[in-house]
Amino acid sequence: MNPFLDLGLSEPILKALTDEKYVSPTPIQAQTIPQVLLGRDVVGIAQTGTGKTAAFALPILHHLGGDRRRPLPRTCRVLVLSPTRELSAQIVDSFKTYGRYLRPSVALAIGGVNINPQMRALAHGVDVLVATPGRLLDLMDHRAVTLDRVEVFVLDEADRMLDMGFINDIRKIVRKIPAKRQTLFFSATMPREITDLASSMLTDPVRVAVTPAATTVERIDQRVILVDRAAKPALLAQLLRSEPIDRVLVFTRTKHGADKVVRALAKSQLSAEAIHGNKSQNQRERVLAAFRSGKVRTLVATDIAARGIDVEGISHVVNFDLPNIPESYVHRIGRTARAGADGIAISFCDAEERVFLRDIEKLIRIKIPSTDQRGVRIEEPRANGAAIEANAERPAGQADRPQRERQQSQPRHPDHDGGRPQHKRTRGQRRGAPQRNGAPHNGRHQEPSRNGRQGQGPQQQGPARDGGDGSIATVAFLRPAQRDKHQQHHAGDHRARRGTR
Ligand code: AMP
Repeated sequence: MNPFLDLGLSEPILKALTDEKYVSPTPIQAQTIPQVLLGRDVVGIAQTGTGKTAAFALPILHHLGGDRRRPLPRTCRVLVLSPTRELSAQIVDSFKTYGRYLRPSVALAIGGVNINPQMRALAHGVDVLVATPGRLLDLMDHRAVTLDRVEVFVLDEADRMLDMGFINDIRKIVRKIPAKRQTLFFSATMPREITDLASSMLTDPVRVAVTPAATTVERIDQRVILVDRAAKPALLAQLLRSEPIDRVLVFTRTKHGADKVVRALAKSQLSAEAIHGNKSQNQRERVLAAFRSGKVRTLVATDIAARGIDVEGISHVVNFDLPNIPESYVHRIGRTARAGADGIAISFCDAEERVFLRDIEKLIRIKIPSTDQRGVRIEEPRANGAAIEANAERPAGQADRPQRERQQSQPRHPDHDGGRPQHKRTRGQRRGAPQRNGAPHNGRHQEPSRNGRQGQGPQQQGPARDGGDGSIATVAFLRPAQRDKHQQHHAGDHRARRGTR
């Protein structure tokens, strides 16, 4: 029996899902779809990668299929607002894919391209219009579309909309949509401003939340390399040569920074492409297609440009610059480890970025193992504030082991220590086990669903162990074959070490 059938979706949609080889709904879909089918307003706390597009697209298609009214000229029945061009284009693709057997009319309205074809596409009216706010307002100014026939309104990635300064545009748009409508509101985070925005536009909403950061973050092998700012380009080149990379997404904070990285890599005879807001829509699409097909292996992006990029097979994410907004870290590393795959996220952190790293670790509640440029592991400062270089701890091949396993030998976040002696974790203790009696980790991020953890049990803090031969300095950058050899060479050591725990 098709589990999607239980959700109440119609046959043409189920058929499309079978074509897509979707076996069962994701948690956000399982929670959202029945509510949307009942006509309820929904606040969904979920980020890209959780299947949230289908969570709203499938029941909307069901609704359109069950009531096949022709849209009036220059109107749309469903309006989806999304913050970026890429995400909007992906949403259109999703409607077309899932609606393959219903064939709704779907239009895309995004900036950076000629407005005339979009005006023509709207002339006869469409079932679904997916738009970025600025271009939609332009189209409304041109009287190419009115919103007085909107039955369902979706606001996607509301937090990002706010970050990008779209709040006034959104309010302007919402005022033009009939009050009698169904509203579906999605956001990865729910800070105060977003909650206020949601309550201003939703009627008695059902709140659904999933735990993307847990499923995503836990599957990702995360590492930090503490590095001088000036040494970052050379380190990246070294990494690209030594890591077993299929596709890598490199993040920079600025557009200019992205271009600089591409130029620096070119000097090292490494080809890469940049994607950011200064590129034309055509350029972006060309670069994304090349990245998707594997023609381009290294894509350098800013947060906004990368938002919503849904490319499979990204084996690595490199944070060339650490984001100053901790949530962005989660979004960034979520580009890898899609569809159940594991991924590797490597973050370069210079002296000025240490504070960002602390915020990120607070948010994800994981102490990310860090090394210096040579691969020498850095221990957290002890109570007396002295940083210790734990020479040669990282066992060979450890880079390939999942975070869950490795975490057992890693120090806790200093904030979790609370000045108490550090505990050894017993074998049965799970990292991320709910904290039964503790206060929330951090007042700003109390939403347990953000990362699926409510707290952490005590974790093992092993003493700084010294392998003695400095092997860690090379291991992290070895190719897999070399690494295997290296691993065999040291296997005896590790077995002996494990036996002593
Ligand atoms: P989204 O969060 O909407 O960006 O979706 C992330 C990815 O998950 C997309 O590539 C979807 O095609 C895929 N996806 C969505 N729902 C399912 C599902 N139920 N089963 C398998 N893959 C899915």
